[in-house]
Amino acid sequence: MMRPVKKGGRPKDKNGKEVRFTKYAKARGLLIECLGEYCSYCEMHLDASLAVEHVQPKSVNPSKELDWDNFLLACTNCNSTKGNKEIIEGRYLWPDKDNTFAAFKYTDEGLVFPADSLPEALERKARDTISLTGLNKTPLNSKASDRRWLNRRETWGMAEESKKDLCTNNTEQMRKQITRTAMASGYWSIWMTVFQDDPDMVRRFIDSHPGTCRECFDESDNFKPAPRPGGIC
Ligand SMILES: [Zn+2]
Repeated sequence: MMRPVKKGGRPKDKNGKEVRFTKYAKARGLLIECLGEYCSYCEMHLDASLAVEHVQPKSVNPSKELDWDNFLLACTNCNSTKGNKEIIEGRYLWPDKDNTFAAFKYTDEGLVFPADSLPEALERKARDTISLTGLNKTPLNSKASDRRWLNRRETWGMAEESKKDLCTNNTEQMRKQITRTAMASGYWSIWMTVFQDDPDMVRRFIDSHPGTCRECFDESDNFKPAPRPGGIC
């Protein structure tokens, strides 16, 4: 999972001055404005319990505690799996730096794997990223409160149903409705995967979710994933 996102540069106030956060929690509203109410790792749709995530844990690197460039948004499951270990950023793929949609594949069983035929070094980073955030957890190897896998499987079913609805009633109204359903359900990558042969729906998913990195998709080739400028995939 992992919608590639763009946070934009460091936020500025209305006088054009760079905003300095006195507490990291104060960045939460701005992050949600930029990225939507979704976990940056597992794509779960959340409101109240979505927290400011430090890519480099603040306990490891206190100088990055208030640094916008070090922020994402995360759910409690991703956050607690990732924990407080030091992060060597180059070992992993990041939704605000790489085309993380291209690096993973999703199954109808709600599982996440590295995408097929990645070069070996990239495959390792994809695998390490999945372990770092616990996206490989299932009810067999995680606690009951971690419902990410189940949610993904349910969302897959919902997306398949929506696709059938669209087949029988292919209207603008239905396309808008499905886009709204996807936004409310979260798990953007699953909607993108189930509707991958429908470039119009793919474009709607890209454009409707705040902060999706458009450069990760080739508009001239049916919005197929494209390497991210400056990223490693
Ligand atoms: Zn998450």
